[in-house]
Amino acid sequence: MSSVCIIAEHQNGRPRKSTLNAITFGRDAADKLGAELCLVVIGHNVSGVSDELKSYGVSKIIVTDDAGLENYTAEQWAHAAAEAAKKYDAVLVGMASGTTGKDMMPRVAVKLNAGMGSDIVGFDGMSFTRGMWAGNALATIEITTPVKVVTIQTTAFAAVAPVEGESVVEKLDVTLPKAKTRFVEMRQTVSKRPDPTEAGVVITGGRGVNGAENFKIIERLADIFGGAVGATRAAVDAGWVPNDLQIGQTGKMVAPDLYVAAGLSGSIQHQAGMKNSKVIVAINKDEEAPIFEIADFGIVADLFKVIPEMSDLLEKEMS
Ligand SMILES: Cc1cc2nc3c(=O)[nH]c(=O)nc-3n(C[C@H](O)[C@H](O)[C@H](O)COP(=O)(O)OP(=O)(O)OC[C@H]3O[C@@H](n4cnc5c(N)ncnc54)[C@H](O)[C@@H]3O)c2cc1C
Repeated sequence: MSSVCIIAEHQNGRPRKSTLNAITFGRDAADKLGAELCLVVIGHNVSGVSDELKSYGVSKIIVTDDAGLENYTAEQWAHAAAEAAKKYDAVLVGMASGTTGKDMMPRVAVKLNAGMGSDIVGFDGMSFTRGMWAGNALATIEITTPVKVVTIQTTAFAAVAPVEGESVVEKLDVTLPKAKTRFVEMRQTVSKRPDPTEAGVVITGGRGVNGAENFKIIERLADIFGGAVGATRAAVDAGWVPNDLQIGQTGKMVAPDLYVAAGLSGSIQHQAGMKNSKVIVAINKDEEAPIFEIADFGIVADLFKVIPEMSDLLEKEMS
């Protein structure tokens, strides 16, 4: 039987939330193609990841475990993914359209002699839909090769819910090629806050926050919710916050339950990364700011007045 293979994203021994969104895409695609859904977990000592993913209704979890795969390099992971796709007769191979997926899936496509679609938001069994021009247009594309490779825009798909029963786990040994690239060091931002892509609440500050020190009020509100801090490119370019907090077309795509946009105008590039959020609250002193066009709740006010008041009230309510 042919398969749809989804490559799992994981970090620090745990699956990333994006994998659960990608499974939703994979489940639907597998049903439309009459294929079985396989999840590929690549890495070393990743049994914790595969165990955690067993309850999401995937037919098989394929684990390629090798010391040479412990630290991600596009070269070796793409090899392992392509080997799994060949072994399990994949007609469609997908991964979340994050940094890893964007880096690695084009190589997987080359190895499988497959056509590729990026940032896919829909599939009808024949054609794929993808966002273009910062999500302002949708293109319908057909991939004409027998095997198709895609990156999946995870904000377009809900996270899969756990189901009864457990997936079968199969081990796949791969012989890794002699590598031309070598992992040297991982410098990870250490933060007690969740990553914006994983959080249920994201509080984002823009140019209006006006300085690194002032981001403390954004952080305080985020911490009340146990949420993440986000930023516009203007705030990142100014050096107020690190660039892994940037939300938007060239940053991270998020779709939290609550998105608070403070002191940002709502450029199309920023909206591209957050407009699928469930509830959007905008705080801006300019009532003409475009962010109000997509906000569920708009507060026309000075953020330096509103956010501390909001935080005080919430702290009182929650204590
Ligand atoms: C190819 C390309 C890719 C890009 N990718 C991204 C991306 O991924 N993410 C991204 O964010 N941008 C991106 N940009 C940049 C984008 O075009 C905008 O320049 C940027 O989003 C503007 O950031 P901002 O809203 O913080 O700043 P501004 O547009 O300057 O808006 C600041 C807002 O703050 C309000 N304000 C000021 N003071 C206060 C206050 N005290 N209280 C309340 N409101 C206040 C103002 O009224 C104003 O609306 C990209 C641009 C290009 C060309």
